[in-house]
Amino acid sequence: MAMLTINNLDVHYGVIQAVRDVSFEVNEGEVVSLIGANGAGKTSILRTISGLVRPSNGTIQFEGKDIHKTPAQKIVASGLSQVPEGRHVFPGLTVMENLEMGAFLRKNREENAQNLKKIFARFPRLEERKGQDAATLSGGEQQMLAMGRALMSQPKLLLLDEPSMGLAPIFIQEIFEIIKDIQKQGTTVLLIEQNANMALSIADRGYVLETGKVILSGTGKELLASDDVRKAYLGG
Ligand code: ATP
Repeated sequence: MAMLTINNLDVHYGVIQAVRDVSFEVNEGEVVSLIGANGAGKTSILRTISGLVRPSNGTIQFEGKDIHKTPAQKIVASGLSQVPEGRHVFPGLTVMENLEMGAFLRKNREENAQNLKKIFARFPRLEERKGQDAATLSGGEQQMLAMGRALMSQPKLLLLDEPSMGLAPIFIQEIFEIIKDIQKQGTTVLLIEQNANMALSIADRGYVLETGKVILSGTGKELLASDDVRKAYLGG
């Protein structure tokens, strides 16, 4: 059974239709990448899955349950966590406080402490900076903090919105390695990216979006090798 199933999704903002009849699925244990140019509808799909935007048509099922009418905080509590585009760490709070915010639904202190240890092991840079105001972190460090914060809720499915955006190449490499590592530890990942090369290299499967529609799908390897994808997204 698929962990996440999207069927015939439409999203409108007033008269503008951002997502058109989109269907796809994410199976347990996979990294699935949605790629597409600016305005293709990637963020709209992610925000609809997390309950921040309501679809005008279609259904979203998470572990067999309809969630497209479920309040966003209940969706998080059911095991689905989103790292928004642009990170959005809480300024004025320390790195540690930001991480603690991610665990606000998790009341088991022992479990949270164990989880925090794992997150610091994966992001040693965050441990070094745990007392630092989150606003003063570099872009790459903020991305790590936003991912660490999402992992504090121990999600089954992690949604990542353009984690590579605005980062130096060395950080991009590191972030994608961390995503693979998160998958290895048992978390399923849905990744949306404009960096098609990286996103498809680490993906089990991918979908290509254009003006709100899925125009192509396949394994990460197939899409990387596809002439259409190469021409449109990988510079020839
Ligand atoms: P990007 O990579 O630039 O973030 P995207 O693929 O994530 O693009 P969306 O952000 O989902 O695309 O946007 C899809 C379309 O919906 C765009 O035409 C955008 O202008 C429009 N849109 C997005 N949010 C809103 C909104 N709140 N109100 C009106 N139109 C919106």
